Amino acid sequence: MLRDCHVHLGGDAVAREALLSALDAAGVEGCLLLSLPPASFAGSGARPAADRLANLEQWCVGEPRLAPLFWIDPLEPDAGRQVEAALRSGVRGFKVIANRFFPGDARAMPVYRAIAAADRPILFHSGILWDGRDSSRYCRPAEFESLLEVSGLRFALAHASWPWCDECLAVFGKFEQARRHRPGAPRMFIDLTPGTPPIYREELLRRAYTIGYDIAGSLLWGSDSFVPGYDPDGVRRWVERDRKILDSLDVPKEAQEKLFGGNLERFLAGR
Ligand SMILES: [Zn+2]
Repeated sequence: MLRDCHVHLGGDAVAREALLSALDAAGVEGCLLLSLPPASFAGSGARPAADRLANLEQWCVGEPRLAPLFWIDPLEPDAGRQVEAALRSGVRGFKVIANRFFPGDARAMPVYRAIAAADRPILFHSGILWDGRDSSRYCRPAEFESLLEVSGLRFALAHASWPWCDECLAVFGKFEQARRHRPGAPRMFIDLTPGTPPIYREELLRRAYTIGYDIAGSLLWGSDSFVPGYDPDGVRRWVERDRKILDSLDVPKEAQEKLFGGNLERFLAGR
């Protein structure tokens, strides 16, 4: 099984059949589809939240291979109502990029709590943020410790926080330790979507799988693709590269299958 946890919508036009064909060509069974970005990221060209949600729904409705994630800016004054509307429309989770606020910003926490209460996960960007602004400091993994306060939350840090991958793994260890001592402590996943340039890939995978944490059930695989433009050949190359590295590290097939597919359902459904 191969599922892609990180696919962005990059254009307005809904072209579902083209995407499904591209997924077939890549050997990808299904993917998480991230909505168009909010104004804080897209600038003046951004569409209103209701339009972005409607667009996401058009892409995903009735198609179980496409799981909708709504990109929310938790600082928008009506973010709470946006969460409610997204839940009514059936989104499987939410996407957040903290590009001008720390993840634990007091204005954002109630939004995370509402998402946790609805038993939906959040996929956060983490690591260097290529937005041309002074913003990466907000996306360092240790800043996400603030989420320890959000009971019941499931969340993932995308890109394994490259280049702060060690810090990302250490924060993962901290959340796991919290879960052992406190029922309801948040559950952290790591989305291994590149991020990591190829020269760092072996190092990242080796550290993740040999650090000694119970991590194999908490790693997600994604491509950071954009739609339109999902590139089956590019996706296949990443999968082949990763499988080769995982084999060379003697990562058991069972753990590999979790990474390439099984863990995504745990992220979405919490089981
Ligand atoms: Zn992305």
